[in-house]
Amino acid sequence: MKKIGILAIQGDFEEHKLVLKKLGVDYKFVKEKRDFEDIHGLIIPGGESTTFRKIIRNYSLEEEIIKWRNDKKPTFGTCAGIIIMSSQILNDEEGFGYGFLDIVIERNAYGRQRESFIAEVEYNFNHRAKVAFIRAPIIRKVNKGEAIARLNGRPVGIQDENFIGITFHPEITGDIKLHEYFLKLVNSSG
Ligand code: GLN
Repeated sequence: MKKIGILAIQGDFEEHKLVLKKLGVDYKFVKEKRDFEDIHGLIIPGGESTTFRKIIRNYSLEEEIIKWRNDKKPTFGTCAGIIIMSSQILNDEEGFGYGFLDIVIERNAYGRQRESFIAEVEYNFNHRAKVAFIRAPIIRKVNKGEAIARLNGRPVGIQDENFIGITFHPEITGDIKLHEYFLKLVNSSG
């Protein structure tokens, strides 16, 4: 059985664990280098992208993450997850992420009054779900990849082969369809 790793250095990794448990999937928390050894897919949860990058560096995980990307291993990032997966980040001190997805993303882009909200998104596999946007980013430009989820017609999730990034949290409102979709991707990749 394939095993999913959840990056568990910060953010809402516990919620992702609950979804994987519900789906009966083998999972583990990824906190250090050797945790990458026996996993087949990686979930990067929501949290705070600037903190994520700091901890990734402090724990010497950066090299492992870049290797993971270069090997094109299945990766699913939500919110802060998609931010650090992006090639270019607006409203950010560093301005660039790990480049899993060739997109331009803007952090904290919904403005104060709409910082957090629940809305219905439409997936490209015939499913609609209510999900949470929490100090979410906005995808400003897609250089490569396809919209896997849309909000009012605009892309809020991108897939490029084995990499999926979404700007929202399906795990908080209990929508498990995207995790299911990711598992299929993990199972179909070698
Ligand atoms: N605003 C956060 C950031 O820039 C993302 C918020 C989230 O992951 N829910 O990293």
